[in-house]
Amino acid sequence: MTTLALDTGKAVRIATIASHSSLQILKGAKDEGLGTVLICKKERAKTYERYGHLADKTILVDEFSDILDQKVQDELISENSVIVPHGSFVEYVGAKQIESRLNVPMFGNKRMFDWESDRTLQKKWLSEAGVRMPREFTKDDADGLCIVKLPGAKGGKGYFVVKGKDELKGLYMEGMTIQEYVVGATVYPHYFYSPLTGETELMSVDKRYETNADGLSRTGGGSQVEPTYVVCGNMPIVLRESLLPRVFEMGDRVVEASRKLFSPGIVGPFCIETVCTDSLEFVVFEVSARIVAGTNLYIDGSPYTALKYGESMSTGRRIAREIKNAVSSGRIEMLVS
Ligand code: AMP
Repeated sequence: MTTLALDTGKAVRIATIASHSSLQILKGAKDEGLGTVLICKKERAKTYERYGHLADKTILVDEFSDILDQKVQDELISENSVIVPHGSFVEYVGAKQIESRLNVPMFGNKRMFDWESDRTLQKKWLSEAGVRMPREFTKDDADGLCIVKLPGAKGGKGYFVVKGKDELKGLYMEGMTIQEYVVGATVYPHYFYSPLTGETELMSVDKRYETNADGLSRTGGGSQVEPTYVVCGNMPIVLRESLLPRVFEMGDRVVEASRKLFSPGIVGPFCIETVCTDSLEFVVFEVSARIVAGTNLYIDGSPYTALKYGESMSTGRRIAREIKNAVSSGRIEMLVS
């Protein structure tokens, strides 16, 4: 990893694009006394002006991908910015473009984008971590309740559920992933791995509010409607304390595997997406190696950060603190790429 265009003798600013968890990221930076830059689409400017005190500077663009324009990049570099990526950043700017064209220092490891977005690589990563995953089937051996995922689908869009290979006939298309449908409660722990301290912290936990899978439970089982999994929001979860050892172990293993597979591995926030079964086992179906929107529930901190920090520590603020600590100890190159 490299410091690229960062001047560590000057104050560092936190920059992000106006979507997903940007308000949390900006507030976190402010709470840590850092300056902020918001890259905002013109059509959203009015909304973000309502939180104008969080952005020291706003750069207006037509499209988020304009962040790659040399003029915008030069401006960000002259502001001594570190870009904090989030889900929308990757979605709108594109992993490949970020890797090849972004010269502004970015918090995190750009190598992880491939591992995060490719299902085959994710499987390799999770296998290396030794966590339990849902079984996978081909269209010819699908057995029992299965969830079928479209290639590259975002936010559960277009997923459907079938019982075995017979129900899949006529629905299967090349590239779909067929997974065992794990019955249980969805649990999404949010972590923060600090390269500076070597510790994986538990920041918070959420579950997603999914339409219409969550709505179906209110039909009393009499509905013929297919469940879909489009996320429309997030709900807080606090875990049984006896589950914490397993949650920490899972986080540590995923970090360790990432360090082995794509050195230096995960930097900062990540989320392990799981189903917790009735034998209280976590089955992992995805990892997000960046801040997730579920952390927006905890802009003022979570039960877990209250225990660790005794102050309002959001994931956004934790990122800013890590950057601040790295700059003051001359180790920023461990955090940016
Ligand atoms: P994803 O796009 O992988 O985050 O999945 C979207 C949603 O589909 C999740 O939030 C879960 O509700 C559901 N889901 C995904 N994979 C499984 C699985 N193997 N078993 C049960 N539910 C799943």
